[in-house]
Amino acid sequence: MSKFFLFLSVCRLSFLGALEHELESFAREKYSSKGKEEYRQYTEETSLPVKEFYKANHTRQTVDFVQKQREIYSSLSHAKMGVWEAMQLLDTIVDESDPDLNLTQTVHAFQTAEAIRRDGHPRWFILVGLIHDLGKLLTSFKEPQWAVVGDTFPVGCRFSNRVVFPEYFQENPDFHNPDYQTECGIYTSHCGFDALLMSWGHDEYLYQVIKDYLPEEASYVIRYHSFYAAHREGAYTHLMNDYDQKMLPWLQLFSQYDLYSKVNESLDVDELKPFYEELVKEYFPHSIDW
Ligand code: FE
Ligand code: FE
Repeated sequence: MSKFFLFLSVCRLSFLGALEHELESFAREKYSSKGKEEYRQYTEETSLPVKEFYKANHTRQTVDFVQKQREIYSSLSHAKMGVWEAMQLLDTIVDESDPDLNLTQTVHAFQTAEAIRRDGHPRWFILVGLIHDLGKLLTSFKEPQWAVVGDTFPVGCRFSNRVVFPEYFQENPDFHNPDYQTECGIYTSHCGFDALLMSWGHDEYLYQVIKDYLPEEASYVIRYHSFYAAHREGAYTHLMNDYDQKMLPWLQLFSQYDLYSKVNESLDVDELKPFYEELVKEYFPHSIDW
């Protein structure tokens, strides 16, 4: 190797090392005393309620169920309200699938948005931080938690081992349908995530609600932010297209804020409100369809 290329490789390695270091200190120094590796622990030691949650979720999310839910909710005829009203509804919800957060959803919304804002990201990205989990108000329409929260995954094709607790898929009726258990199942190779039926939950629902108001990057992050098997574990690349490849970095960046801003301390919401009211007004009308 020439000295020049050796020099370039060393520069590249130190850049990647610096980036890695920056991401690791992201959690520890800026937002929490908890290390990155301590988040999202899905093992034998995971609490029973979280395991029970994933058992119900993996057993019941089927092609039929997802199609039915999409039909019910794509009409957006369940409520008319503004984003702030929705935020208030969200405050009554605690996410049973989350081993890292025992605070209310409103606190999580502001913590995520504030972490993004502190790092000087675009206004639409801060807004995504604030509203990304608003779809969880599906629980106020009497949907069970297993049909609202948790990691998402495509149905209609083979379940990846890189989805959390993959062993629970064995009790899913689709697991025994050979048409749904080939690598691509009912899809074609590199069809793109937008062609998939994702397990039903707050991501897809909120995407349907906001898609006409926000930039495409924002809509994409909202639609796939719980698809950890893809954006964190690198699974399902055979179903990705060029558009997904282009959007993936936004999803991965967002995930850093969504996860590592979860700290057990609250914020002064009243003090923050004027900034966020202005931001919401910039993108949304007074009332929208849910
Ligand atoms: Fe979420
Ligand atoms: Fe979240």
